Amino acid sequence: MSSITQTPNISIPSDLLPEDGRFGSGPSRVRPQAATALAEVATSFLGTSHRKATVKDVVHRLRVGVADLLCIPEDYEVVLGNGGSTGFWDAAIFNLIQTRSQHLSFGAFSAKFAKGVAGAPHLADPVILTSEPGTHPQPVADPSVDAYAFTHNETSTGVAMDLRRPSSDGLVLVDATSGAGGLMFEPKETDVYYFAPQKCLAADGGLWLACCSPAAIERIERIGASDRWIPPFLDLSIALASSRKDETYNTPALATIFLATHQVEWINNNGGLQWAAARCSESAEIIYEWAESRTFTTPFVADTSIRSHVVATIDLHDVSADEIAQVLRANNIVDVESYRALGRNQLRVALFPAIPPSDIAALCACIDHVVEHL
Ligand SMILES: *Cc1c(COP(=O)(O)O)cnc(C)c1O
Repeated sequence: MSSITQTPNISIPSDLLPEDGRFGSGPSRVRPQAATALAEVATSFLGTSHRKATVKDVVHRLRVGVADLLCIPEDYEVVLGNGGSTGFWDAAIFNLIQTRSQHLSFGAFSAKFAKGVAGAPHLADPVILTSEPGTHPQPVADPSVDAYAFTHNETSTGVAMDLRRPSSDGLVLVDATSGAGGLMFEPKETDVYYFAPQKCLAADGGLWLACCSPAAIERIERIGASDRWIPPFLDLSIALASSRKDETYNTPALATIFLATHQVEWINNNGGLQWAAARCSESAEIIYEWAESRTFTTPFVADTSIRSHVVATIDLHDVSADEIAQVLRANNIVDVESYRALGRNQLRVALFPAIPPSDIAALCACIDHVVEHL
C-alpha cells in the first residue's frame, strides 16, 4: 500500500512490544498453538475426504463444542455451511424471512444485510431502523414483520447490543460474527445466532455457523418445502440435513474447520464463554481506561453500556491515526486501522479471546511511545 507521507522512522523498544503483533478485527489473530496443531495433522487430516470419519469427527466436535460454548438449549441445533456470514445473509433472504423483516442498521455490516434484503424481489420492503454511528437503534415490536435482524457486535463501529426479543412473534436473527465466543448473551432471546469463525473463533474465513431454535428450524423446513425457488447452495433445509450428518453441502475448507474446533475447545477447556467474555472485558477495561486517561484519545462510543468488549474504536486528536498505524505496522503491529468507510481519525483494535489482555496493555504502551516520538 502506498502512503502519501513517508512513515516516520520510529523503532519501538522490544521490551514494549506485544508477544504477537496481530490486532485485526477480521481475519484476526490465529493462536500459534492452533496453527501448530494443524501442521501436526498435515498428512492425516488435510487433503482427506470431507465425507469420511476423519473430517466428520472434527465437524461433529465443532458442532458440539459450539453448542457447549454458547450454552444453547437442548432443542437448538448448530448448522453450518460455506460462504461466511455474507453467504448466510443471502441464505436468510431465501430461507428465513417469510415476507418482511425489520433491521437495526448501525454500521457497515448491518447496513449490508438490510440492503441485500431490500433488493430481494420475493420479499416486501424491509423496515430499516437506523441510528448515528457509535449508537444503535432500538427494535420496535411490529406485527407486520416476521423476522428481526440484529447485530450482536457492529464490527465497523465497536457498538455491542443487548439481545432481547422485541415481541413473542417473529424470528430473531442475530449476526454475531464478531461477538460469538466473546460476548455473553441469552440464547433463548435468539432464534438464529450466526457467525463466521475468523473473529472470536480465531480460525480462517469461508464458513458460517448458525445456532437455530426450533421455531427457526420449523421456518427453514416450511419455506424449503414451499414453492419458493431457492438456489440449492443457499437452501438452509439442505444445510440442515447435511449438518445433521456432520457434513456440508459442498466441500468446506478443512483447515478452517480444524482451527475453529481447536479454538472452541480451548475456550471450553478454560471455562467456556464466561471465561472468554471475562478475558475480553479485561482487555476492554485496559484499552478504554487508557483512552480516557490520555489527552490525544477518546473512546468513540460514548455510551459505556454499548461500548464493545470485543472491538475497541478509539478516536485520536491532534495526531494522525493513519500515521500511528503506519509506524506500528513498520514495527510488525498490524491491522489497527479504522474501518475506512467510517471516515474518522480512529484506531480500531480487536479484543478477541485469542489476544491476551497483556498484549492490549503492550499495544497501549507502544502507541504512547509512538506519539511521544512523532
Ligand atoms: C466480519 C463480519 C461480517 C462478514 O463476515 P464474512 O465471513 O466475511 O462474510 C458480517 N457481519 C459482521 C458483524 C462481521 O463482523
